[in-house]
Amino acid sequence: MSGDEKTGRAVERVVLAQSTSDGAGVRLKRSLGSAALELLDPFLLLDEFGSDRKEDYLGGFPDHPHRGFETVTYMLEGKMEHRDHLGNHGLLDSGSVQWMSAGHGIIHSEMPKQEDGKMWGFQLWVNLPASDKMRPPRYQDIPPSAIAEVDLEGGHRVRVVAGTFRGVTGPVREIVTEPLYLDFHLHPGVPIEIPLPERHNAFCYCYEGDLTAGANGQKLHAGSFAVLGKGDRLAITALDRLSRCLVVAGKPIGEPVARYGPFVMNTREEIIQAIDDYRSGRLLL
Ligand code: MN
Repeated sequence: MSGDEKTGRAVERVVLAQSTSDGAGVRLKRSLGSAALELLDPFLLLDEFGSDRKEDYLGGFPDHPHRGFETVTYMLEGKMEHRDHLGNHGLLDSGSVQWMSAGHGIIHSEMPKQEDGKMWGFQLWVNLPASDKMRPPRYQDIPPSAIAEVDLEGGHRVRVVAGTFRGVTGPVREIVTEPLYLDFHLHPGVPIEIPLPERHNAFCYCYEGDLTAGANGQKLHAGSFAVLGKGDRLAITALDRLSRCLVVAGKPIGEPVARYGPFVMNTREEIIQAIDDYRSGRLLL
């Protein structure tokens, strides 16, 4: 076995996304953040929403709060409008990303800005350490044109949302967990190797096609969430058709996690405080 193979990450575990609904009846597939896998520090949840049936998404996500973590919305297709109680407002178009740090509190809505057609994308929840949970909210709204799309060997392509790949750095900056967020479009047959920070936890989520991932050649299909083991790189090969996957890594926080719905804190007392602050209108203060 060569040194390269020794440090290649293996797939430790595969969780299959389960159909569920959230918000006002939005159909989605949840992998991380389900009973099967509650946490992959610093990541708390991964939802894929994707449907061309308007009844699956039109309800959207009306006003709801968040405290203590970050929500990352990455749109593949469709339009989503975002509004919060501080007056922030934005349109998330196909190919855009919004990295929102809720900090001490945000109340917002995330609503489809389309009457028909396909709505497809992801929401990832990323935890914050205690030192950052009560900071003011912060947005990074990234238009599609600001996300570098890099052509690779074998006809592969990657969109670099956060972190650096092959010398290209994504537009999302200054996130405490130092995330890598890559969206790969892979043609069959030609393997690709992705360097990953050794101490980061990482996952690969296949959302189209079929591929093998990791030193152990684990097969992944659309809706497979693969938890990666230790190592400094990941090998992926698409099987017999164009396949697409997210590869995401982040620095683990290593603190206790207390979560209740849209609030993610360190202790139960802080959760009770968050609920109380929300009910009494003090979440935003
Ligand atoms: Mn939200």
